[in-house]
Parts: sequence; C-alpha cells; structure tokens
Amino acid sequence: MKKKKRYNKTKSLMGRVRAVFFCVLILISSIVITNRYTQSGLEKTKVVQASSEIKQENRSENLINMVYESSSNNSVLDMNSKNNNIKKENDGEVINSVDQDSNSFDSEKIQNFLTKNIRIEDNKKIAFLTFDDGPSTTVTPKILNTLKENNVKATFFIVGKQLEETPEAKNILLETYKQGHVIANHTYSHNYSKLYPHGRVDVNDFMAEVEQNNNILKSVLGENFRSRVIRFPGGHASWKGVAEIDKKLEDKSYKYIDWNALIGDSEGGPKTKEQLIKRYHQTFVGQEKVVLLMHDTYGKQSTAEALPYIISDLKNKGYEFRTLR
Ligand SMILES: [Zn+2]
Repeated sequence: MKKKKRYNKTKSLMGRVRAVFFCVLILISSIVITNRYTQSGLEKTKVVQASSEIKQENRSENLINMVYESSSNNSVLDMNSKNNNIKKENDGEVINSVDQDSNSFDSEKIQNFLTKNIRIEDNKKIAFLTFDDGPSTTVTPKILNTLKENNVKATFFIVGKQLEETPEAKNILLETYKQGHVIANHTYSHNYSKLYPHGRVDVNDFMAEVEQNNNILKSVLGENFRSRVIRFPGGHASWKGVAEIDKKLEDKSYKYIDWNALIGDSEGGPKTKEQLIKRYHQTFVGQEKVVLLMHDTYGKQSTAEALPYIISDLKNKGYEFRTLR
C-alpha cells in the first residue's frame, strides 16, 4: 500500500512537473510569437514611415526642382528680355546723343551713392544740377542763359503735360536739348493721386505715363531721342510698393535718380532768392557728389535768381558739373 501510495505520489508529481513545463513552454512561445508580431508590426510601421518620408522627400525635391526650374526659366526670360532690350536699343539706332557725352555720369552709380552709400572711388567733387517740372516759358529761358554764361550743363526732368498745354514750351525744350543739357523723364502728368493712389505706386499708370512722356519728348526732339533717366515725382523713396515698378523699369533699361540737396523752391509757398540760398546751405554740406533739386516751372523766378550764386559757390569749392544719364 505504502509502495503504491509512493508510486502514485511520484506519478502526480511528474504530472505536475510536465504541466508546469507545458505551461512555461506555452508562455515562452506566446512571448516569442507576440514579440515577433510586435517586431514585424514595428518594422511595418518603420517601412511605412520610411516610404512616406521618401515620398515627402521626393515631393520636396520635386518642389525644389519646380522652384529651380521656374526660377531658371525666369532668369532665362530675364536674359531674353534684356537681350531684346539691347537689341531694341541697337535697332533703334541712337538712344540719346548725351549717352556718348563724356560730361554725363551713370545715374545708377549716383543713386547707389545716395541711397546705399556706395562710394564712387574717383575722389572727384561733382555737382549735378537738376531742374524739375518744366519747361516753362517764363523761368526755363533765364536758367538756360545762366547755364550758358557759366558753361555748365544740367539735367532737366520734363513733365510732358506742360509741353502740350503751352506749345511755345516745345521750342524751349528743343533749345535746352541743343545746348547739350540732358532731357529726362518726370512722367506725363506729375499727378500724385493718379500715379500713387493711397501712397502706393500704380505700376500700370506709372509705366504708361513714362512711355506717354517719352513719346511727347520724341515728337519734339526726334524719333531717335530716348531718355533713360527718370525722376519719380516726389522722389522714389516717398512711395510704397516700389519693388514691382523697379523691376519693370529695370526690364526697360530705365534708371531713376533722387537728390541729396535742395534749395527749397517747392517747399511751402513762394520763397525769396535769399531764402533759397539759405536752404541750399542747410542741405549742401560738402557731399562729394551732390545732386541738387531745383525747379524751373512757372512761379519759380527766385530759383533763376539764386542760380548764379549757387554755381559760383560750387565752383569756388572745387566742384565740376556733370549731367546724368
Ligand atoms: Zn516734380
């Protein structure tokens, strides 16, 4: 009995051990399976992530390519339009006789000096006399006389409307040109609310006015006349949204120029000669390159009266006089 009992005991112990062993085996295999499943799941996720990353990279590469292509297309277009401009200029024979004049100076360099402080390494004191808003039949002839007497050349920024309103002004324009002064573009109307609605440049109106003015100048000075120099009415720096118009002007080889000294003949009401000279001394403080803003339109008699003093002062200080191209 005792033996049988012991045998039974051993048997049940063996059974328990076997059961535990199976349990452990099942547990291990389930862990392995679960682990494998999880791993494959992770791998799957990783693959999906990786492929989506690749897709994204491809997409951004495509975007980069598109941007690159479009930008390179643009530069090709730019180059084409520049070549066309050069071709047009060549086809149009002469741009402006003053362009070949050694007395003229690249207005782009001067504008860069004015606004970006890029120095011109010639160490020369140069004065650019500029007259805006003309021609007038009353003031421009007096200014021309003073310039002639002093053998000085200047740059005149013409408003085309003045030529149409007073046909006699066309003869004065022609005379100005013949005397070797530079004729430049100051738009057709000089109308701020049309050119700059709400203080922002209207690109289409502005360009249309530049071309309209150009055509009127050509009708007086001949088909071969082309003025490359522009002055924004009120100055380039005064208006918003200039980036777009700057691009258009560049495409058409136009250059614009502001000023770094003035005589105050368009500030407030009429001024005496003495007041203008005082203002001149306030703003001209020995700039190596001085672009002096003056006006030769109707009512600016004092400007004509102050001009002999201004020229002699600049001469005494060692300045030479050049025009802008
Ligand atoms: Zn003006």
